[in-house]
This record gives sequence, C-alpha cells and structure tokens, in this order.
Amino acid sequence: MFSEGDRLELVRMVDDPDPVPPGTRGTVTGANLVNLGGGALGGATSGGFLQVWVAWDNGRALALSIPPDSARKVVECDHCGAEPYVELEVVDGQGLCAECARRIRLGLSDEED
Ligand SMILES: [Zn+2]
Repeated sequence: MFSEGDRLELVRMVDDPDPVPPGTRGTVTGANLVNLGGGALGGATSGGFLQVWVAWDNGRALALSIPPDSARKVVECDHCGAEPYVELEVVDGQGLCAECARRIRLGLSDEED
C-alpha cells in the first residue's frame, strides 16, 4: 500500500464542496482502510475504501477517500531520478519508469538485480 511520507499528486476529489485542485501534490500523513461491511479487506473492494490523510503543498489538509477520489503516487526512479506517477489503484505491484523503462520498486516487492 502506501504510508506516511509518501508523495501524491491529486487526480480528482469528487465529494468535497471545496476540493483541492487536480495536480496538487502533497505528503501522506496517514492511511486507513475502511471496511463498510460489504466485503473482505484487501484494497478498493466492494463496501470499502481507503482513507488517506494528506498535507497538501498548498497548505490544505483534506483527506482522500479512494474510491471515489483518485490520486497518483509520485515515486523517484532508482535508476534515472525521474519522478513518474503510479496510480494508487495498482500501487501494490511495481511501477514502470516512463523515462528509462526500468521497473520501480514501490516498497514491498522483491529486490531486483
Ligand atoms: Zn527511470
């Protein structure tokens, strides 16, 4: 998943009447999987959502609920230093750097090389 200190970029925030603008970056200050009783825990499954508290770079402190909100994790490539984006919905796998096409570890996967 992702954890405190991770960097995000907002894609959309749908439920808030005064949302953070898309494209705003922020730092994760906490995350919690909320199960509404509809299914087993394990991601964005039926009946549950991921609540993510974010300290946005513009000074806001709004939490995300994913879904329906959407954000991308900003990761730095180990190889070329680029900052590609990885959709949070697939964050438990590996990302692929758009600059150098090397795989990027997201914290939980096995070592490469
Ligand atoms: Zn790269």
